[in-house]
Amino acid sequence: MRIILLGPPGSGKGTQGDLIEKRYNFPKISTGDLLRRAVQEQTPLGKEGEVQMNRGELVSDEIVEELVRERIFQADCRQSYVLDGFPRNIAQAKSLEKMDGEVPEIVIEIKINEQELISRLAARRVCSQCGAIFNLDVRKPNKEEVCDICGASLIQREDDKPAVVQERLRVFEEKTEKLRDFYLRKKVYHWVDGSEKIETLFGKISFILDTELGKFKRNEVLR
Ligand code: AMP
Repeated sequence: MRIILLGPPGSGKGTQGDLIEKRYNFPKISTGDLLRRAVQEQTPLGKEGEVQMNRGELVSDEIVEELVRERIFQADCRQSYVLDGFPRNIAQAKSLEKMDGEVPEIVIEIKINEQELISRLAARRVCSQCGAIFNLDVRKPNKEEVCDICGASLIQREDDKPAVVQERLRVFEEKTEKLRDFYLRKKVYHWVDGSEKIETLFGKISFILDTELGKFKRNEVLR
């Protein structure tokens, strides 16, 4: 089973992806995290993607597809996995189908208005080591600028700074929103209201997942 989380930057895909990983034991694959790690380690892919990332533009399809291909064929992804931040355009969605066949899919878009996104991204802080996500308004770390989980320092992502955020939202509208129709046509599309509290939203996402996973299991038995 492939679970795809869609939504603009700051909509909560990463946080909800982490919660899904914890409850269902499906590994979360975030292309943003994979790219940031590649940049930090200055791998050839990281060096190539860094400039576009810092400008809020999309990194080339070849780079992200390569990272996703490497990850989804690892043993822990054999049953199910959750994608956060991929695909981000129709070409990537088609390439995912080619890469991993016609695996049953559940697509959940987290919808949220632009003003809320801008203030959330301004308040977002991430751990420089483990990538844990905090928010200075609603999910404060226990100690200022320190990660609750691993004790490393918290930073603001370069691309969460206001000038870059505008570009990321523009790119989302131009490219990623088109995926909604793509998945509606495949009849795998669902959406939730991203302005809800983290736990409430997760309750709604879990309901969708439980319902869809149940249907999938029943079909497997009937087959
Ligand atoms: P994210 O953490 O998902 O907001 O991603 C941060 C940045 O990584 C994006 O603004 C892009 O520059 C790059 N990125 C992440 N996922 C993709 C993708 N699927 N395709 C192209 N670029 C991506």
